[in-house]
Amino acid sequence: MEIRPYIFKFGGTSLQTAERIKEVVRIIANYEGPLVVVTSALAGVTNKLVEATTNPASAPDISRQLFKHHMKIAGELGLSDKGLEKFEDYLEATLGDVSISRTAADVRRGELVLSVGERLSTELVARLLMETGRKSKFIDSRDIVRTDSNWGSARVDMNATGALVERTLEKPLMDKIVPVVTGFLGSTAGGDTTTIGRNGSDLTASVLGACLDAPEVWIWTDVDGICTADPRHHKNAKILAEISFREASEAAYFGASVLHPHTLWPLLDTEVAVRIKNTMNPAHEGTLVCANPKKRGANLITTSIENVAVITVSGYGMAGIPGVAATIFTAVRDVSTNILMISQSSAEHNITFIVNADEVSKTVKSLEVALAEWIRRDHRIDRIKVVSDVAVVSVVGENMRGRHGIAGKVFSALGNKGINVIAIAQGSSEYSISAVLMMADMRQAIEAIHSELDTNK
Ligand code: ASP
Ligand code: MG
Repeated sequence: MEIRPYIFKFGGTSLQTAERIKEVVRIIANYEGPLVVVTSALAGVTNKLVEATTNPASAPDISRQLFKHHMKIAGELGLSDKGLEKFEDYLEATLGDVSISRTAADVRRGELVLSVGERLSTELVARLLMETGRKSKFIDSRDIVRTDSNWGSARVDMNATGALVERTLEKPLMDKIVPVVTGFLGSTAGGDTTTIGRNGSDLTASVLGACLDAPEVWIWTDVDGICTADPRHHKNAKILAEISFREASEAAYFGASVLHPHTLWPLLDTEVAVRIKNTMNPAHEGTLVCANPKKRGANLITTSIENVAVITVSGYGMAGIPGVAATIFTAVRDVSTNILMISQSSAEHNITFIVNADEVSKTVKSLEVALAEWIRRDHRIDRIKVVSDVAVVSVVGENMRGRHGIAGKVFSALGNKGINVIAIAQGSSEYSISAVLMMADMRQAIEAIHSELDTNK
């Protein structure tokens, strides 16, 4: 396709109140070039829909709440009477999908329930945009994003999607119409509705960016960009002008919440860059995330993950016996626990790994069952220990590769403050160093590391 539109994605926080939605529409209307817009559900709506799927008895009540909420916002947007009437009809018809029955097709049906939030917000934005005088068209992404049937976190088929996107969006783009597309949703070849994972609208935007060879994908949020540390924890955090895809993924994985960790994969083999922009401060350039940053600077990124726990399996009989690690990690996998970090002492007397706090009890139970034999036999394993209220603080940066002394600086900054480090890991790619420490020490740790590494001090 000849036209290369920008992609603007607006998340729930940008769609929280009528005022914010008006701001979003102003941003879209002020941008004159070819554009595709992707919208998430209004803030909080998907959580409500999840509640309706887990507790079907609450569905009628939730449906009423969502009706009220959307009508209230639509009323405050200042739509024309006719526009408001049309929206109300659309709202009623769409909310019909919220009621569900407990049948064998439950999960599949749940996807349809979850799809309601984006369908409503997108209709609202497209309608308001039209009334503002900018030609736009509501596009249901179930018509253009083809996925497998992995309900709840369906995988996107890029080839099939590319063809559908081109076929559906070329004409409106040629006619200078802004397609406003539902984020988060797709459909299977058989026509079933799917969702691509919580907070998946970022991914919808990058998928469209890859398919349309967009110059840039702009993720509009409520901060000026990606910072050298979480500004809530560190007052001297600075906005980074540019960072690489690898750094952004690594930082997202270690807790920086601006970009969803899965957002970038469709763009890895493309020239398409992502820019983080602030809906409330549109003049700010934001942070550009791209393959090869030119304005990167030397600053590293300090991130953190709160509410994790350390699980240690130990025993003198573990050393040198093949299969212990495999048994442990199979038990962890059996209960679908996600492991954030792993370390093993060189004497092989223990294996330590970090998991989210809410996954600890099922994981320990699974380990106890799987290791029962090892525990009984000669006490090869004598304990499974859990330390709770733990955090992981990580330093991320492509430019730390080959730079000496970073680990030294990180750990002496912690040592100088008397902060006890429970475990350490360095990614073998040398993009990150992580320290596991008590939650109570986290803020001070971020502060100490960040100021030790600040190159502009
Ligand atoms: N509305 C969906 C969610 O809350 C997708 C998104 O916000 O990106 O998970
Ligand atoms: Mg959201």
